[in-house]
Amino acid sequence: MAKYVYLFSEGNASMKNLLGGKGANLAEMTGLGLPVPRGFTVTTEACTRYYNDGKVIADEIEKEISEMMEKTENLVGKKFGDPKNPFLVSVRSGARASMPGMMDTILNLGLNDTVVEGLSELTGNERFAFDSYRRFIQMFSDVVMEVEKSKFEKILHGVKEENGAKFDTDLTALNLREVVKRYKELFKQEKGFDFPQEPKAQLMEAVKAVFRSWDNPRAIVYRRLNDIPGDWGTAVNVQEMVYGNMGNDSGTGVAFTRNPSTGEKKLYGEFLMNAQGEDVVAGIRTPQSIEQLREINPEVYNQFADIAEKLEKHYRDMQDMEFTIEKGKLFMLQTRNGKRTAAAALKIAVDLVDEGMATKQEAIMKVDPKQLDALLHPNFEPKALKAAQPVAKGLPASPGAATGKVFFEADDAVEASKGGEDKVILVRLETSPEDIEGMHVSQGILTGRGGMTSHAAVVARGMGTCCVAGCGDIKINEEEKYFTDKNGKKYAEGDWISLDGSTGNVYGERLPTVEPEMTGDFSTLMQWADEMRTLKIRTNADTPKDAAQAMSFGAEGIGLCRTEHMFFEPDRLPAMREMIVARTEQQRVKALEKLLPMQRSDFEGLFTEMKGYPVTIRFLDPPLHEFLPQADEDIQALAKEMGLEYCELKSIVCDLHEFNPMMGHRGCRLAVTYPEIAEMQTRAVIEAAINVNKKGMSVIPEIMIPLVGETKELKYVKDVVVKTADSIIEKAGVQLQYKVGTMIEIPRAAITSDEIAKEAEFFSFGTNDLTQMTFGFSRDDAGRFLDEYYNKKIYESDPFARLDQTGVGKLIKIASELGKQTRPDIKLGICGEHGGDPSSIEFCHNLGLNYVSCSPFRVPIARLAAAQAAVGGGAMGQK
Ligand code: PEP
Ligand code: MG
Repeated sequence: MAKYVYLFSEGNASMKNLLGGKGANLAEMTGLGLPVPRGFTVTTEACTRYYNDGKVIADEIEKEISEMMEKTENLVGKKFGDPKNPFLVSVRSGARASMPGMMDTILNLGLNDTVVEGLSELTGNERFAFDSYRRFIQMFSDVVMEVEKSKFEKILHGVKEENGAKFDTDLTALNLREVVKRYKELFKQEKGFDFPQEPKAQLMEAVKAVFRSWDNPRAIVYRRLNDIPGDWGTAVNVQEMVYGNMGNDSGTGVAFTRNPSTGEKKLYGEFLMNAQGEDVVAGIRTPQSIEQLREINPEVYNQFADIAEKLEKHYRDMQDMEFTIEKGKLFMLQTRNGKRTAAAALKIAVDLVDEGMATKQEAIMKVDPKQLDALLHPNFEPKALKAAQPVAKGLPASPGAATGKVFFEADDAVEASKGGEDKVILVRLETSPEDIEGMHVSQGILTGRGGMTSHAAVVARGMGTCCVAGCGDIKINEEEKYFTDKNGKKYAEGDWISLDGSTGNVYGERLPTVEPEMTGDFSTLMQWADEMRTLKIRTNADTPKDAAQAMSFGAEGIGLCRTEHMFFEPDRLPAMREMIVARTEQQRVKALEKLLPMQRSDFEGLFTEMKGYPVTIRFLDPPLHEFLPQADEDIQALAKEMGLEYCELKSIVCDLHEFNPMMGHRGCRLAVTYPEIAEMQTRAVIEAAINVNKKGMSVIPEIMIPLVGETKELKYVKDVVVKTADSIIEKAGVQLQYKVGTMIEIPRAAITSDEIAKEAEFFSFGTNDLTQMTFGFSRDDAGRFLDEYYNKKIYESDPFARLDQTGVGKLIKIASELGKQTRPDIKLGICGEHGGDPSSIEFCHNLGLNYVSCSPFRVPIARLAAAQAAVGGGAMGQK
């Protein structure tokens, strides 16, 4: 029979998949003999079974939970529901991958009207007993019974006001009794029945609620953003309560073994005396730094510092720990590998190797490739920054520079971003997990309250988003959507501000930014990654500028140059349009002759920039109507410019209209109908290569034919290319090698690729179109319904961002195998957006592709992801 519940003493750190990260580490700490309150873990398998059984806990699991509860009671020597010797527990979620704040926690479970009196008598601390009870009622009602938290907060606020209390800690026992009374009245009013008094029922309901929270909307969004599969489920940890709210000799805190912002090797954290866990994170009171604990209670500080060191050595990584002090006694409630900024991740990884705590292979696995993004993004232009005057200062919670328009609600930020606003700053009193999507679309986050471990700070650091937290200098009015800075100046929705996440400064203006420079730890780690990876990393670049950027990030070639982008340049567009409106081949050739020198110089620029690295040039791909205006007045203006009659041009535009342009006259179909286009492009590529090779380079250009579905159409275009190229080479009297290959972006091409490989010297998987054609929905419109698909758990992620390995991946696998059957040395690469996505890169590595090609800013991400795939575990091993 399967075992669904484990005592902490029965598990260990290697059982993360079953016990969740938190449960496995609590078990490991128990095994290490650290002061961990006793308890047990209900496994992730129990969670998946709960869902498979139609959201019910099977009798056998319920029985096992009750048995473990009894065992724990015996261990602790207290009894659940016994007012004379009450046993209270915390109930916390804990998935395999840490998902901070995404799921729910309930503290002080086991309290009811009689137990609270018993607890009060037993501890001689009535205030503490009722403080615990009011917390429990609120958390249980919110998490389990879905009564809004804010309604309870309103009551608490009211009682505080009535009694002139500034902080929660100022409330007396009598005040808290009153809070409890009003909470219970509210509960009854909302639910129609009394607050549940039976501890066992409370426990089962709480376990179910944690299971349910695995599927709450914010957890679903978090999983999608972090590539966490929906079928993992969460474990539930039930643990003996220890009390940080027992008075001024008690407290609770969070600390890291190294600074999570900079990576500096120094204990770093915050705590609050006379408080329970949620007070620190919620930012209601401003916590003290861990340093101050040394003064308040040196003994506990030293014990904690020793444990921290021991844990770091044990896990050989920076630890993020939660602790509680109950009447001067220390308890460890959690340890895990700490989330950190990109800069800290690099420093810690390199330092751990220097300190002999990790191998280079282990070090590269400690950095999440996606995080590198944060290092590659702009900082403020130093001169402008120096000249600017901050209008407020908060905590430097997550580094980077952000400039953008302010929005006061997460939904507004999301809306603005959907509407095309790419510079958004979310300003909130404090953030909560519901804000996750709004935080994700924001360049920066500014909060009025909360410390360095507040929700905003933790989440922003994880996302690599700039964040200034706890900025008391500003007064935020969320309802009326404005804030005032320290000088009293008002900022309304849409006004520009800038945030410096490294200093905590806020600027009331738009500041210019500059590109970052990468040195030190970054290049060390990248060098290690390069030694380990087998996949080559190329870039998608259409201009020498992009190519240079990618080269500076370590690209080893261009995997996709989309030539059409060159024709949108203002100096080329007229010739391009002339070519499109041509009625005869002669007219077309004349227009193409104008384009030839421009295109040739484009390629010379690219070849020169790429210094002999391979360059793949893709021939014209989009439907031609994209180059012509659509609105009548624009057609009129263009007709005049081109010396045509309006109706003549209008009829050409109408002729080019297609019902499904993405599946219409585009890709190689253009070259089949107008071979002279392929001829001109071949001429430009070959002549450019000859020209730069004359200057001492050794370019071997790769010509890539797009959107092939049938080998004969590839052969037709290839014949045009080869005939043109060979004649130019012969006339020039030079030696020049070149390759002709194709994109695989149509399912038919994938499944007939043994045939296609007879003509193609290389395949590049165009997974944007391949995904579109395989799923049968448009890459431009999928956004309209994908949200519904996530909510209904049909899809977990956007197949245009993360490769659908089951379907599209299967086609890639088939095509690779068939291609190799025909041509064992065929070169295989990928150039769709997935080429820069870590989990997709891991897939490409496992399939034995030769390279991935991605946008310049993703090159470092791809280098690291490729190394992680080679070392093993890949992107998913990170979680
Ligand atoms: C693709 O389809 O994956 C591709 C790279 O081509 P494009 O995005 O230009 O259609
Ligand atoms: Mg394509």
